[in-house]
Amino acid sequence: MTRFRHLLLALTVVALARAESVEEAVAPEGFHWPHGAQAAVCLTYDDSLASQLDVAFPQLEAMGLKGTFFLMGNGGTMVDRVEDWRAVAAAGHELGSHSLFHPCRRGLPNRDWVSVTHDLDVYTLDRLEKELLITDTLLHAIDGETERTFAYPCGETVVEHGEVSFLPVTRKLFIASRGVDPTIMAPRDLKFSNTPAFDPSHGDLQATIDYLEACAEAGTVAVFLMHGVEGDYLETPEGLHQQILDYLVAHKDRFWVDTFKNVMTHAQGEFERLGWPVE
Ligand SMILES: [Zn+2]
Repeated sequence: MTRFRHLLLALTVVALARAESVEEAVAPEGFHWPHGAQAAVCLTYDDSLASQLDVAFPQLEAMGLKGTFFLMGNGGTMVDRVEDWRAVAAAGHELGSHSLFHPCRRGLPNRDWVSVTHDLDVYTLDRLEKELLITDTLLHAIDGETERTFAYPCGETVVEHGEVSFLPVTRKLFIASRGVDPTIMAPRDLKFSNTPAFDPSHGDLQATIDYLEACAEAGTVAVFLMHGVEGDYLETPEGLHQQILDYLVAHKDRFWVDTFKNVMTHAQGEFERLGWPVE
């Protein structure tokens, strides 16, 4: 090799090294939330309940925060308050799917309230998928959206007497699906088909703050799972709900609060950038 070629090779190596360092500066290693937030936070509400329209939604609006309302096709407010749900969607909140009939496993303890016809144990994958597709059509008629997220009724993920998982169906149909297990997962361990969630109605404000701060420490997403807010059932008191919103707004530089759809869409982009498999 001539001296000239040696020189050219050396220059090329230097140029490549520089290009790499520039690339590192614009695309840092590791998982990141927008604006340097320590954690993403999703406020989610299940079962199409009236107290969510009457209490939770106005509280969110007053604080400038967006939530995700997981609607079920057979919820009472789906009959007589559909225009109210349309207004919730128009205000920038997400209408997620909580299935058409809210099927759960009737054979488990304290499940007398589950109807025989909507016993998840007698569902097939095909029936469940068809009902989820109809729910999507119903929600599309309300909000015009074609992509959304899902929350598992009763947190259950199996049909045919517990023999068949339907995680592959929800992974196919939804950006992400929310579970009910509060175990905190590092971003790398997040499963889009069954993300963790914490129910604040069981404790006080401090318990919620502890969970939030633990999620911030892990750099992950804190998903809150709620039902009634000062009404209906499995109630989160209005006062506690407001305190949670106050805490999030007071620490908005550290917590990115957005819909489950927006948060998990961002997370998916990060997984793709980092070459992590989306499961
Ligand atoms: Zn539910």
